[in-house]
Amino acid sequence: NTVIDAHNVSKVYNRETVPVYAINNVHLHIEKGEFAALVGPSGSGKTTLLNLIGGLDKPDTGSVFINELDITKLSANKLIDFRLKNIGFVFQSFNLIPVLTAKENVELIMQLQGIEKSVRDVRVQQLFRQIEMSDKMDVRPAQLSGGQQQRVAVARALASRPKFVLADEPTANLDSKSAFNLLDIMTKLNKEEHITFLFSTHDQRVIERARRIITLVDGRIVSDTAAVSTRHEK
Ligand code: ADP
Ligand code: ADP
Repeated sequence: NTVIDAHNVSKVYNRETVPVYAINNVHLHIEKGEFAALVGPSGSGKTTLLNLIGGLDKPDTGSVFINELDITKLSANKLIDFRLKNIGFVFQSFNLIPVLTAKENVELIMQLQGIEKSVRDVRVQQLFRQIEMSDKMDVRPAQLSGGQQQRVAVARALASRPKFVLADEPTANLDSKSAFNLLDIMTKLNKEEHITFLFSTHDQRVIERARRIITLVDGRIVSDTAAVSTRHEK
Protein backbone atom coordinates (compact mmCIF):
# COMPACT_ATOMS: atom_id res chain seq x y z
CA ASN A 1 0.00 0.00 0.00
CA THR A 2 2.12 2.87 -1.35
CA VAL A 3 1.32 6.36 -0.12
CA ILE A 4 4.25 8.31 -1.60
CA ASP A 5 6.03 7.52 -4.84
CA ALA A 6 8.48 10.17 -6.01
CA HIS A 7 9.89 9.34 -9.42
CA ASN A 8 12.94 10.92 -11.01
CA VAL A 9 12.35 14.12 -9.09
CA SER A 10 14.67 17.10 -9.53
CA LYS A 11 14.53 20.71 -8.39
CA VAL A 12 17.01 23.25 -9.67
CA TYR A 13 17.40 26.74 -8.22
CA ASN A 14 19.15 29.61 -10.01
CA ARG A 15 18.90 27.85 -13.36
CA GLU A 16 19.86 31.08 -15.17
CA THR A 17 23.00 31.88 -13.17
CA VAL A 18 24.76 29.24 -11.05
CA PRO A 19 22.38 26.26 -10.98
CA VAL A 20 21.88 24.53 -7.64
CA TYR A 21 20.54 20.98 -7.89
CA ALA A 22 18.67 21.11 -4.58
CA ILE A 23 17.11 17.72 -5.48
CA ASN A 24 18.83 15.65 -8.11
CA ASN A 25 16.95 12.75 -9.68
CA VAL A 26 15.47 11.28 -6.52
CA HIS A 27 13.31 8.16 -6.31
CA LEU A 28 11.52 7.60 -3.04
CA HIS A 29 8.83 5.13 -2.16
CA ILE A 30 6.98 5.25 1.17
CA GLU A 31 4.45 2.64 2.26
CA LYS A 32 1.50 3.15 4.55
CA GLY A 33 2.53 2.84 8.22
CA GLU A 34 6.18 3.81 7.79
CA PHE A 35 8.07 5.96 10.31
CA ALA A 36 10.87 7.34 8.19
CA ALA A 37 13.57 9.93 8.89
CA LEU A 38 15.12 12.07 6.19
CA VAL A 39 18.62 13.02 7.29
CA GLY A 40 21.64 14.79 5.83
CA PRO A 41 23.73 17.91 6.31
CA SER A 42 22.28 21.40 6.16
CA GLY A 43 21.67 22.31 2.53
CA SER A 44 21.40 18.67 1.39
CA GLY A 45 17.82 19.17 0.17
CA LYS A 46 15.63 17.86 2.99
CA THR A 47 13.25 20.82 3.07
CA THR A 48 13.08 20.96 -0.71
CA LEU A 49 12.21 17.26 -0.96
CA LEU A 50 9.51 17.53 1.72
CA ASN A 51 8.07 20.57 -0.07
CA LEU A 52 7.97 18.67 -3.37
CA ILE A 53 6.30 15.64 -1.78
CA GLY A 54 3.84 17.88 0.07
CA GLY A 55 2.93 19.76 -3.08
CA LEU A 56 4.16 23.06 -1.64
CA ASP A 57 6.54 23.32 -4.56
CA LYS A 58 6.74 21.81 -8.07
CA PRO A 59 9.68 19.75 -9.33
CA ASP A 60 11.51 20.68 -12.55
CA THR A 61 11.47 17.03 -13.62
CA GLY A 62 9.70 13.91 -12.47
CA SER A 63 6.44 13.02 -10.80
CA VAL A 64 5.16 12.79 -7.26
CA PHE A 65 2.42 10.21 -6.86
CA ILE A 66 0.34 10.34 -3.70
CA ASN A 67 -1.93 7.31 -3.53
CA GLU A 68 -1.38 6.86 -7.27
CA LEU A 69 -2.35 10.43 -8.18
CA ASP A 70 0.39 12.55 -9.78
CA ILE A 71 0.11 15.78 -7.80
CA THR A 72 2.52 17.63 -10.12
CA LYS A 73 -0.30 17.55 -12.70
CA LEU A 74 -2.91 19.20 -10.49
CA SER A 75 -4.00 22.80 -10.98
CA ALA A 76 -3.19 25.21 -8.15
CA ASN A 77 -6.73 25.10 -6.76
CA LYS A 78 -7.05 21.32 -6.94
CA LEU A 79 -3.67 21.01 -5.25
CA ILE A 80 -4.74 23.18 -2.31
CA ASP A 81 -7.81 21.03 -1.85
CA PHE A 82 -5.81 17.82 -2.21
CA ARG A 83 -3.26 18.93 0.40
CA LEU A 84 -5.95 19.87 2.87
CA LYS A 85 -7.55 16.44 2.68
CA ASN A 86 -4.54 14.20 2.26
CA ILE A 87 -1.36 15.63 3.77
CA GLY A 88 -0.64 16.76 7.32
CA PHE A 89 2.17 19.26 7.84
CA VAL A 90 4.28 19.93 10.92
CA PHE A 91 6.86 22.73 10.82
CA GLN A 92 9.94 23.41 12.88
CA SER A 93 8.51 26.65 14.29
CA PHE A 94 5.05 25.19 15.18
CA ASN A 95 3.16 27.86 13.15
CA LEU A 96 0.05 27.86 15.32
CA ILE A 97 -2.31 30.81 14.93
CA PRO A 98 -1.69 32.93 18.05
CA VAL A 99 -5.20 34.39 18.42
CA LEU A 100 -6.87 30.98 18.36
CA THR A 101 -6.97 28.52 21.26
CA ALA A 102 -5.28 25.12 20.93
CA LYS A 103 -8.66 23.54 20.18
CA GLU A 104 -9.54 26.18 17.57
CA ASN A 105 -6.18 25.68 15.87
CA VAL A 106 -6.88 21.96 15.53
CA GLU A 107 -10.49 22.48 14.49
CA LEU A 108 -9.81 25.04 11.76
CA ILE A 109 -8.99 22.59 8.95
CA MET A 110 -12.13 20.62 9.69
CA GLN A 111 -14.19 23.83 9.58
CA LEU A 112 -12.64 24.70 6.21
CA GLN A 113 -13.71 21.27 4.99
CA GLY A 114 -17.28 21.87 6.12
CA ILE A 115 -17.27 19.10 8.72
CA GLU A 116 -20.19 19.61 11.10
CA LYS A 117 -19.70 20.72 14.67
CA SER A 118 -20.70 17.51 16.46
CA VAL A 119 -18.25 15.48 14.35
CA ARG A 120 -15.51 18.06 14.88
CA ASP A 121 -16.02 18.00 18.65
CA VAL A 122 -15.62 14.23 18.87
CA ARG A 123 -12.51 14.30 16.70
CA VAL A 124 -10.93 17.18 18.64
CA GLN A 125 -11.50 15.41 21.98
CA GLN A 126 -9.90 12.26 20.60
CA LEU A 127 -6.87 14.14 19.22
CA PHE A 128 -6.23 15.99 22.47
CA ARG A 129 -6.37 12.67 24.33
CA GLN A 130 -3.81 11.27 21.88
CA ILE A 131 -1.41 14.18 22.41
CA GLU A 132 -2.08 13.97 26.17
CA MET A 133 -3.28 17.56 26.40
CA SER A 134 -6.99 17.27 27.14
CA ASP A 135 -6.55 19.83 29.93
CA LYS A 136 -5.02 22.46 27.61
CA MET A 137 -7.60 22.68 24.83
CA ASP A 138 -8.79 26.20 25.66
CA VAL A 139 -5.38 27.77 26.10
CA ARG A 140 -3.69 30.02 23.52
CA PRO A 141 -0.32 28.96 22.02
CA ALA A 142 1.65 31.64 23.93
CA GLN A 143 0.64 29.98 27.20
CA LEU A 144 2.04 26.62 26.07
CA SER A 145 5.64 25.39 26.09
CA GLY A 146 7.35 24.73 22.76
CA GLY A 147 6.87 21.01 23.21
CA GLN A 148 3.17 21.45 23.93
CA GLN A 149 2.77 23.73 20.91
CA GLN A 150 4.38 21.12 18.69
CA ARG A 151 2.03 18.43 20.05
CA VAL A 152 -0.90 20.69 19.14
CA ALA A 153 0.66 21.09 15.68
CA VAL A 154 0.72 17.28 15.36
CA ALA A 155 -2.96 17.12 16.36
CA ARG A 156 -3.72 19.81 13.79
CA ALA A 157 -1.85 17.84 11.13
CA LEU A 158 -3.98 14.78 11.90
CA ALA A 159 -7.33 16.56 12.13
CA SER A 160 -8.51 15.80 8.61
CA ARG A 161 -7.27 12.19 8.74
CA PRO A 162 -4.52 12.71 6.15
CA LYS A 163 -2.84 9.86 4.27
CA PHE A 164 0.48 10.81 5.88
CA VAL A 165 2.26 13.49 7.91
CA LEU A 166 5.31 15.44 6.71
CA ALA A 167 7.36 17.06 9.46
CA ASP A 168 10.29 19.37 8.68
CA GLU A 169 12.70 19.34 11.65
CA PRO A 170 9.89 18.97 14.20
CA THR A 171 12.23 18.84 17.21
CA ALA A 172 14.71 21.52 16.11
CA ASN A 173 13.35 24.10 18.54
CA LEU A 174 12.75 21.73 21.46
CA ASP A 175 14.82 20.83 24.51
CA SER A 176 15.70 17.15 24.98
CA LYS A 177 12.81 16.33 27.28
CA SER A 178 10.22 17.91 24.96
CA ALA A 179 11.84 16.32 21.91
CA PHE A 180 11.60 12.83 23.46
CA ASN A 181 8.05 13.49 24.52
CA LEU A 182 7.09 14.56 20.98
CA LEU A 183 8.80 11.47 19.59
CA ASP A 184 6.93 9.26 22.04
CA ILE A 185 3.65 10.70 20.85
CA MET A 186 4.55 10.37 17.17
CA THR A 187 5.72 6.78 17.77
CA LYS A 188 2.52 5.92 19.58
CA LEU A 189 0.40 7.42 16.80
CA ASN A 190 2.42 5.41 14.30
CA LYS A 191 2.08 2.12 16.18
CA GLU A 192 -1.48 2.41 17.41
CA GLU A 193 -3.18 4.49 14.72
CA HIS A 194 -0.92 3.44 11.82
CA ILE A 195 -0.18 7.07 11.00
CA THR A 196 2.56 7.34 8.36
CA PHE A 197 5.31 9.83 9.18
CA LEU A 198 8.09 11.21 7.00
CA PHE A 199 10.18 13.71 8.93
CA SER A 200 13.48 15.49 8.39
CA THR A 201 15.94 15.84 11.20
CA HIS A 202 19.58 16.19 12.07
CA ASP A 203 18.79 15.42 15.67
CA GLN A 204 20.58 12.22 16.70
CA ARG A 205 18.00 11.56 19.42
CA VAL A 206 15.32 11.48 16.76
CA ILE A 207 17.30 9.48 14.21
CA GLU A 208 17.80 6.67 16.73
CA ARG A 209 14.05 6.24 17.01
CA ALA A 210 13.30 6.05 13.29
CA ARG A 211 12.63 2.70 11.68
CA ARG A 212 13.88 3.84 8.30
CA ILE A 213 16.66 6.33 7.67
CA ILE A 214 16.97 8.00 4.27
CA THR A 215 20.16 10.03 3.84
CA LEU A 216 20.44 12.92 1.41
CA VAL A 217 23.73 14.50 0.32
CA ASP A 218 23.79 17.26 -2.30
CA GLY A 219 20.26 16.51 -3.40
CA ARG A 220 20.74 12.76 -3.87
CA ILE A 221 19.72 9.81 -1.74
CA VAL A 222 23.05 8.22 -0.78
CA SER A 223 21.67 5.60 1.59
CA ASP A 224 18.34 4.21 2.62
CA THR A 225 17.95 1.55 5.29
CA ALA A 226 14.92 0.26 3.37
CA ALA A 227 16.86 0.19 0.11
CA VAL A 228 14.97 -2.85 -1.16
CA SER A 229 11.95 -0.66 -1.80
CA THR A 230 13.89 2.31 -3.16
CA ARG A 231 15.89 2.34 -6.34
CA HIS A 232 18.23 5.17 -7.03
CA GLU A 233 19.74 5.92 -10.36
CA LYS A 234 22.49 8.18 -11.50
P1 ADP B 1 18.11 21.32 3.89
O1 ADP B 1 16.65 21.33 4.23
O2 ADP B 1 18.68 19.92 3.84
O3 ADP B 1 18.91 22.24 4.74
P2 ADP B 1 17.28 22.79 1.55
O4 ADP B 1 16.26 21.96 0.85
O5 ADP B 1 16.79 23.92 2.40
O6 ADP B 1 18.25 21.84 2.38
O7 ADP B 1 18.27 23.39 0.48
C1 ADP B 1 18.90 22.60 -0.53
C2 ADP B 1 19.76 23.51 -1.42
O8 ADP B 1 18.91 24.34 -2.21
C3 ADP B 1 20.67 24.43 -0.66
O9 ADP B 1 21.84 24.58 -1.43
C4 ADP B 1 19.87 25.71 -0.61
O10 ADP B 1 20.71 26.84 -0.46
C5 ADP B 1 19.17 25.70 -1.96
N1 ADP B 1 17.87 26.40 -1.93
C6 ADP B 1 16.80 26.06 -1.20
N2 ADP B 1 15.78 26.89 -1.43
C7 ADP B 1 16.22 27.78 -2.34
C8 ADP B 1 15.63 28.90 -3.01
N3 ADP B 1 14.36 29.26 -2.77
N4 ADP B 1 16.38 29.58 -3.90
C9 ADP B 1 17.65 29.21 -4.14
N5 ADP B 1 18.27 28.16 -3.56
C10 ADP B 1 17.57 27.47 -2.68
P1 ADP C 1 16.48 24.52 6.73
O1 ADP C 1 15.96 24.86 8.08
O2 ADP C 1 15.83 23.36 6.09
O3 ADP C 1 17.97 24.44 6.65
P2 ADP C 1 16.90 26.99 5.42
O4 ADP C 1 17.09 27.83 6.63
O5 ADP C 1 18.05 26.49 4.62
O6 ADP C 1 16.01 25.74 5.83
O7 ADP C 1 15.91 27.71 4.41
C1 ADP C 1 14.78 28.42 4.86
C2 ADP C 1 14.05 28.98 3.66
O8 ADP C 1 14.92 29.74 2.81
C3 ADP C 1 13.47 27.88 2.77
O9 ADP C 1 12.15 28.24 2.42
C4 ADP C 1 14.35 27.83 1.55
O10 ADP C 1 13.59 27.52 0.38
C5 ADP C 1 14.91 29.25 1.48
N1 ADP C 1 16.30 29.22 0.98
C6 ADP C 1 17.29 28.40 1.39
N2 ADP C 1 18.42 28.63 0.71
C7 ADP C 1 18.15 29.65 -0.13
C8 ADP C 1 18.92 30.37 -1.09
N3 ADP C 1 20.19 30.06 -1.34
N4 ADP C 1 18.32 31.35 -1.77
C9 ADP C 1 17.04 31.66 -1.55
N5 ADP C 1 16.26 31.01 -0.66
C10 ADP C 1 16.80 30.03 0.05
